[in-house]
Amino acid sequence: MGEGFEWKERTVRETGVELTADGAEALSAMEIIAEVVRGASGAEICLTSSFQMEDMVVLHMLRQHLPQVPVIFLETGYHFAELISYRDRMVEEWGLNLVNALPVTTLEEHERAFGLLHVVEPGRCCAIRKVEPLMRSLEPFTWWFTGLRREQSPTRAGLKKIEDHRLPSGTMMKKVSVLADWGWERVETYARAHEIPRLELYDRGYTSIGCEPCTAIPEAGADARSGRWGGKKLECGIHTFSEKA
Ligand code: SF4
Repeated sequence: MGEGFEWKERTVRETGVELTADGAEALSAMEIIAEVVRGASGAEICLTSSFQMEDMVVLHMLRQHLPQVPVIFLETGYHFAELISYRDRMVEEWGLNLVNALPVTTLEEHERAFGLLHVVEPGRCCAIRKVEPLMRSLEPFTWWFTGLRREQSPTRAGLKKIEDHRLPSGTMMKKVSVLADWGWERVETYARAHEIPRLELYDRGYTSIGCEPCTAIPEAGADARSGRWGGKKLECGIHTFSEKA
């Protein structure tokens, strides 16, 4: 943490939620959500969503308590047309409180300045079009819900259901991944049981869906995220930029 940043640590008790990180491991997804919602104010809670099935399952659960929970979407400008159309359909059907987190530069300005940065330097492209807009968008919140799961990739194997994270600004967040211990089949079963519309890209073989130029269909049996960035990396940075406390 650099000089000049204000330390804004909040303990679990200060947030009003009587739930420890260890205690959360034994609870179900709905139990964790109920505990957080009971103790925290709705204004402290947000969900980041790429509109993949895990995110829709968490959103479906959260909306039962907080229909207007802010849904932060990283609008990089490089998404599949099918994904954007699915996002817009769900915003309309579910009346979502969508927060489009935009980079400082338009796609046109970005490509004029850097060319195809996602080809030559994907880490920098993600830093500009995903990580920086996310950092700005998270600042007002304390409870950051995600659809992350341990089995998605080796980089997520140690994921806890509730983790303390420090943003580069010094702001402390409670990062909550209620599906951490879920397998893909369970995600699909929940989505089917609750009639959550399915993004058509799954039926074409995609198992993890991000920006179109950096997403491919993985080989059979490979990790869900192995089709991202041509296998050169597994994370874009939005789940690694914050420091786990
Ligand atoms: S996923 Fe690809 S296109 Fe999207 S921000 Fe990262 S490098 Fe750029």
